[in-house]
Amino acid sequence: MDTAMIDKNSMEAVLKDAFLTHPVKEYTWVDPKCLPFSADVRGMCEANRCGMYGKSWSCPPGAGDWETLRDAYQAKDAAFLYTTCYQLEDSFDIEGMAEAKKMHRALDRSVTARLRDAGISHILLGAGTCDLCTTCTYPTAPCRHPDLMQRSMEACGMDVVTLSRLAGVKYNNGSETVTYFSLILF
Ligand code: SF4
Repeated sequence: MDTAMIDKNSMEAVLKDAFLTHPVKEYTWVDPKCLPFSADVRGMCEANRCGMYGKSWSCPPGAGDWETLRDAYQAKDAAFLYTTCYQLEDSFDIEGMAEAKKMHRALDRSVTARLRDAGISHILLGAGTCDLCTTCTYPTAPCRHPDLMQRSMEACGMDVVTLSRLAGVKYNNGSETVTYFSLILF
């Protein structure tokens, strides 16, 4: 189905179906032209703070040139932002954060599956590196699932803090909580 032929209400109905089983904290439409990107954000990825630099097609440098991704994403027809928020035992609850990310990704997969079933072409940018395969093929072979591979928003240079402010969505929902973001581009 051509996304130009469907309205946001139809898309939102599909998304809300996924939200029934995986509750979201907040969601909103954003104007793709206003999506904020910065070399500094991409630079933080390239500084390899998470240890995934050069280890996945979804992370720099395999994720692609950030300015090319920026131009492609800002030219999309529509963008939908959503967050999940999970309670932690305390601010050092690493296991809780990992479990929360797992649940956020389960939601991402549910969203993607429903959109695909509805024939709605989209790109989903999520939180962290793509974990679809047990071992990523990078860099020795092409990505096994280029249609399903998920880049993180930061790997594309997207400034999620600024985006949350522009979209009126909370970046931080309080101490002892963790909030994850995903963005769907149509
Ligand atoms: S789909 Fe598999 S091969 Fe492709 S980026 Fe994700 S983990 Fe790597």
